[in-house]
Amino acid sequence: MNVVLAASEAAPFAKTGGLADVICALIKEFTRAGLNAWVVMPFYRSARTRFDTFDTGLEFTVPMGDEVLKGGVRTYGDSAIFVECDELFDRRELYGTPEGDYKDNARRFIFLSRAVLEALKMLDLKPDVLHVNDWQTALVPLYLKTLYGKDDFFKDTATMMTIHNLGYQGLFEPEQVVPQIGLGWGIFTPEGIEFYGKVNLLKAGLISADALTTVSESYASEIQGRKYGFGLDGVLKRKSRALKGILNGVDYEEWDPRTDTVIPAQYSPADMAGKIKCKARLMRRFSFGDPTKPVAGFVGRLSLQKGLDIFVEALEEMVSNGLYIVMLGRGDVALHERLKKLQKNYKKNFALVIKYNDALARLIYSGSDLFLMPSRYEPCGLGQLIAQRYGSVPVARRTGGIRDTVRDYDPMNGEGTGFLFTDYSADALAGAVKRALDVYSDTAAWESLRRNAMGADFSWAVSARKYMDLYAAIAKKRP
Ligand code: ADP
Repeated sequence: MNVVLAASEAAPFAKTGGLADVICALIKEFTRAGLNAWVVMPFYRSARTRFDTFDTGLEFTVPMGDEVLKGGVRTYGDSAIFVECDELFDRRELYGTPEGDYKDNARRFIFLSRAVLEALKMLDLKPDVLHVNDWQTALVPLYLKTLYGKDDFFKDTATMMTIHNLGYQGLFEPEQVVPQIGLGWGIFTPEGIEFYGKVNLLKAGLISADALTTVSESYASEIQGRKYGFGLDGVLKRKSRALKGILNGVDYEEWDPRTDTVIPAQYSPADMAGKIKCKARLMRRFSFGDPTKPVAGFVGRLSLQKGLDIFVEALEEMVSNGLYIVMLGRGDVALHERLKKLQKNYKKNFALVIKYNDALARLIYSGSDLFLMPSRYEPCGLGQLIAQRYGSVPVARRTGGIRDTVRDYDPMNGEGTGFLFTDYSADALAGAVKRALDVYSDTAAWESLRRNAMGADFSWAVSARKYMDLYAAIAKKRP
């Protein structure tokens, strides 16, 4: 079976978050299972400068409104295909700077969606399943039902779309964007891609893909309700039968303290000496003075989704309870400023690094005792999964994928892998941290809890199998 994943990012070529890890892991799993699997993605600067890609010399054009854009096709190894258009993709960042999104994102990703199909044709690569991800590639299934509907090349191609985060829908003003899409104004209706007067590119995938998935079972049901549906709950409810939750996994070849060569020392549940070294290194790096105190880490995008407003409110109480906190992330400039100010007031206990830095992320996962994830909503969340494997016990909000992957600690029987709270409030967060610190002060209980967390298994095999079963089902249904 030929499976093509279309995505706006994939590790190791370009990454801003979990999507990149997911695509990379799926390609690996599918290939291992004997499928022919490819990813098609933009040829960003990060791929150009760090990978020796192969220029196929193939070229194509995409009409966009009154202009025609040229694209090229590059490959890397057996499974990565890049669409090249330097004007759109040769930039420092993938989607925008901390000041805001790139102004031409609609144009960039409408182009990408057409380019995916054109590149496949140039390469003579006929997918049995074309699996698109998030709004940046959501036009692909719609194009296959419209512009390319009569194209023999794709007559056996089934489509699937995965929602990695419903909070990002690709909303744009219609005047410029509808002509660029090239399907006429007939598509701009409530049954089509209109959404409260704007163009909603994600909706293109929701209404036209043969199957829909999202990245945890809890999130699949949450997004069909008002609270987490971001205005699309009605559409999703109507699609309820086609919408499945398939939990993300972790690639333990990449993320395991036994084999991680980036961290200061390796360790495993049977021999935790390495973790003590990692913690010492982390504490030294941020001049945290008292080695008896616990350290909590946060690694993630600095956006309101990640619960940073309640974090800010709870900080005083958390540090006064005897916790050091180190935060690594980047995101919204307004949040950067707020956190920087806060950091000045809590210099001794709160370290803040506004960067994207894989090595430091690993030092935090390995060197911390607790991992904070107070998310407002969380489709799946990789942070809490990685943290568990590295023995950093999650303190997290019971929402979406967190609900499906962290079991609340029960002091009566010693079961559980972390500390969950439900209310989206600073009090609830501080309360969960307090519960964690109480257990931390009981060394035997803490070690046993940490072993539970490290032993939890979120490997991809089971979830990748669910994707493959779904591929087989939709491919069979094609006429
Ligand atoms: P998202 O909502 O951003 O996809 P996830 O928890 O699903 O969040 O995935 C985040 C991934 O990105 C994790 O692998 C995490 O370690 C990584 N990550 C996020 N921010 C940073 C950063 N500033 N530096 C290094 N890694 C980061």
